[in-house]
Amino acid sequence: MSDWEVDDDEDVKVRHTARGPQRQWTPPHPGKYSGFDRKTTWVPTPRVRGEPQWQTWRDKDGHAGARGRGRESGSRGGRGGNDGGPTTPLSFSVENSAIGMVIGRGGAKIRELEESTGARIKIHRGDFEGEVQIFGRSDAQLKAKELIDELVSQTSGNCRSYGQGSRNSFRRTESTWGAASQIPPAPALPPIDWVSMRENRLKYEAMKWKELPPLKKEFYIEAESVLNLTAEEVKQWRKENNNVFVDDLKDGEKRPIPNPVRTFLEAFQPFPGIMDNILKVGFVKPTPVQSQAWPVILKGFDLIAIAQTGTGKTLAYLLPGFIHMDQQPVPRDKRDGPGMLVLTPTRELALQIEAECSKYSYKGFTSICIYGGGDRKSQIKVVSKGVDIIIATPGRLNDLQMNDYINLKSITYLVLDEADRMLDMGFEPQIMKIILDIRPDRQTVMTSATWPAGVRRLSKSYLKDPMMVYVGTLDLAAVDTVEQSILIVQEEDKKAYVLDFIANMEPEDKVLIFVGKKLVADDLSSDLCLQGIAVQSLHGDREQCDREQALDDFKKGEVRILVATDLASRGLDVHDITHVFNYDFPRNIEEYVHRVGRTGRAGRSGASLTLLTRNDWRIAAELIHILERANQTVPEELVLMAERYEKHQRERELTAPRGGRGRGGGGGGGGGMGRRGEYRDRGDSDWKF
Ligand code: ADP
Ligand code: MG
Repeated sequence: MSDWEVDDDEDVKVRHTARGPQRQWTPPHPGKYSGFDRKTTWVPTPRVRGEPQWQTWRDKDGHAGARGRGRESGSRGGRGGNDGGPTTPLSFSVENSAIGMVIGRGGAKIRELEESTGARIKIHRGDFEGEVQIFGRSDAQLKAKELIDELVSQTSGNCRSYGQGSRNSFRRTESTWGAASQIPPAPALPPIDWVSMRENRLKYEAMKWKELPPLKKEFYIEAESVLNLTAEEVKQWRKENNNVFVDDLKDGEKRPIPNPVRTFLEAFQPFPGIMDNILKVGFVKPTPVQSQAWPVILKGFDLIAIAQTGTGKTLAYLLPGFIHMDQQPVPRDKRDGPGMLVLTPTRELALQIEAECSKYSYKGFTSICIYGGGDRKSQIKVVSKGVDIIIATPGRLNDLQMNDYINLKSITYLVLDEADRMLDMGFEPQIMKIILDIRPDRQTVMTSATWPAGVRRLSKSYLKDPMMVYVGTLDLAAVDTVEQSILIVQEEDKKAYVLDFIANMEPEDKVLIFVGKKLVADDLSSDLCLQGIAVQSLHGDREQCDREQALDDFKKGEVRILVATDLASRGLDVHDITHVFNYDFPRNIEEYVHRVGRTGRAGRSGASLTLLTRNDWRIAAELIHILERANQTVPEELVLMAERYEKHQRERELTAPRGGRGRGGGGGGGGGMGRRGEYRDRGDSDWKF
């Protein structure tokens, strides 16, 4: 992937700008409800790509294995993680013949062991025997060792029954070609005692969670006006508010779905502190997702909130979270750790959420942001001093957790924010490990902009009988508050187009220019600087302080042009961007939608201009679809481009032997689409017409 920016999880401090009074939220796109199980077009990046061996099993999870620890993990390459630190791994060796038993089919066994113990297990297979390393807290290590010993003893018992006594002789026989006939028939392996394994696991779980302080989750006092809504009124409200859809995902008998609150007062009248804060910022009414999410969460249900970026999901979970923390039976000063944890994919988002936490600061709750690249020591210091809310990216939090710097047992309110993005960035293993340390009877809220299979799986694993609130359609729909223009140009003319655009900017315009590569970001921004144009740039290779400065300058309007890689395409809340300029087309169509969504925020209108070159022909058909969905003009040239690509594909399929996708029959070359619409190779030599 050359130096395409994949490093989304980087530090940029986002400072919250002051809000003007009485801001009316209007939906970014009046989406059409297209059915709950409509197929979403989002396909998450597969995190495990055909690893053939389980010898370095740990690598599959995106942990760096021997690559060491250090920076926050998060990129698709699976950097970081934590393999060392102060916790000494418990190491011992196991015969190669027993390793399979420990790992289990497709790694199922090792996962189960990790899940049930909370330890992390790494196995290095040697020539004759492997080394098992167990990471984690000492009680977890011992438990894992005990279970592994149990498994190994079943295998070794079996080996010895060959009558050859020593491990070596067994190995020799095993590896001597043709000797099989001399070996007495192997007795069948004793069956694994799954029942006792499960019992052990349950015992361990019970041990782990015994003597937890009591937990309260239900705080909802339904306002009279909400209670009195008729079914017809509720239906009408949902329809008029971007087709809000609420579903109870509990198996069996369904619970009544709470009516929406249409004002802040309907939700928070019993909590004056919360009301004061909302009045202070001058919001007029809840956004649709908030209207439905607040009653669901305050009733104590787990919630999945699916709504497009910029629709107010942060407050949807933060405000009920504050109430939840404040109203716990155990007073705050008697709890031995934080009460709320928000996991979010990037540092930028973490900092942004923290800013919201501070802005709405309720009852003096303190929060901390934990993210890779930030000062680990000072994060540890704040955590150990005691804090109420943790907002974290999964890699760094997992690092602190594995090294016992942080106790998650006190968490009773968990948020998985932007779950789709976290999965796409390969954070699933870290999320899994973090959640293992959080009490199972907690309340969990998950937000996502899309609803792909990975997110559905995550919700099944970590949410209990959730309700789901989703707003608008569940598939890709680019905001139609943004006027989207497409220009098909030559690569070498792109700079001229940008310069022309900049020359025509109005003083109040603010443009975010997206490029594909860090190098291009540097190149373009220095070119512009040389021409005396005030510009900032944002990409993963810049120092954190420079990036914070860049974003701050842009937010405050000190520069009105920001050149950025896709680092800035998601979730960042700079509300007055008037234009998005796609200098390079992004890796995939989803990213296009997210980029475009950087303008037209919170009801404002915006415009995007996208330069396409011949190399982008693969994306043409999908782009047409998006443009049509958002009622935008589709340029004729784009239609022709899509047709040419389709024709080319057909011809290729006819001529390529056995459906080979390679160039000149070379088989599986670098071109072609990975997941839907994603380029594997931008230097496309397939363009031939
Ligand atoms: P999401 O998490 O869905 O992407 P955010 O929570 O970041 O969206 O909210 C986007 C912007 O909308 C933020 O600036 C937030 O302060 C603002 N916002 C949130 N709730 C409201 C509301 N009820 N009315 C107006 N603006 C709101
Ligand atoms: Mg958000």
